[in-house]
Amino acid sequence: MKHSETSYTSIRARIDDACRRSGREPAQVTVLAVSKTRSAGEVAALADQGQCDFGENYLQEALDKIRALTDRDLTWHFIGPIQSNKTRDIAAHFHWVHSVDRARIAERLNAQRPEGLAPLNVCIQVNVDAEDSKSGVALADVPALAARFQQWPRLRLRGLMAIPRADAADGGRDAFRRLAMTLSQLRNTMPALDTLSMGMSADYPVAIDEGATIVRLGTALFGPRLPKASNPAV
Ligand SMILES: *Cc1c(COP(=O)(O)O)cnc(C)c1O
Repeated sequence: MKHSETSYTSIRARIDDACRRSGREPAQVTVLAVSKTRSAGEVAALADQGQCDFGENYLQEALDKIRALTDRDLTWHFIGPIQSNKTRDIAAHFHWVHSVDRARIAERLNAQRPEGLAPLNVCIQVNVDAEDSKSGVALADVPALAARFQQWPRLRLRGLMAIPRADAADGGRDAFRRLAMTLSQLRNTMPALDTLSMGMSADYPVAIDEGATIVRLGTALFGPRLPKASNPAV
């Protein structure tokens, strides 16, 4: 069996266990398979096992895979940093964007989302540990940016995304809790918000315990990350 075949079943079982331990329904947690550096063939193999949601960080690589797999009914999430010159292709080819961290980018995605498509699902990326090296808006600035989505009808704000610091002694629990608290406060005025995109291969059980609705898993599903350059082409 290939790595992904054994790990897919066992990861989904571990997620279901984590849900039960936290008193949550397994159906409340979506697995987003982070397929950056992985080939279209590897994505197809996971899709064959029932995986629907795939996350990509690098636009060109993602577009190649999306085109190669158009005959499959997959949901594509953009999760990487967004430069202005990338917004048109993101707006046209993805269903979700998790990494919106400024109004300028949201404005462009709104203007460029094609009319024939449903509004683009968006999470605001939050720099939850206030790290200099990370993108994302400060926790305190989330409400102001969230409120502006009223002016962007082609975007549907769904919630918040964060990547806590990797070396936190508590496994990120406090950071996940702060993100969950911020979403819960936003929901007082925006009750439709339903998404907490938090938790990666190293910390997803803790994230689920703190309320994650989407966990973003790369290495847990696909094995150790390949260096980008040596990755076979699609
Ligand atoms: C690469 C990446 C992931 C997946 O990380 P793993 O540790 O391999 O699970 C999740 N989220 C983002 C934003 C990423 O860039």
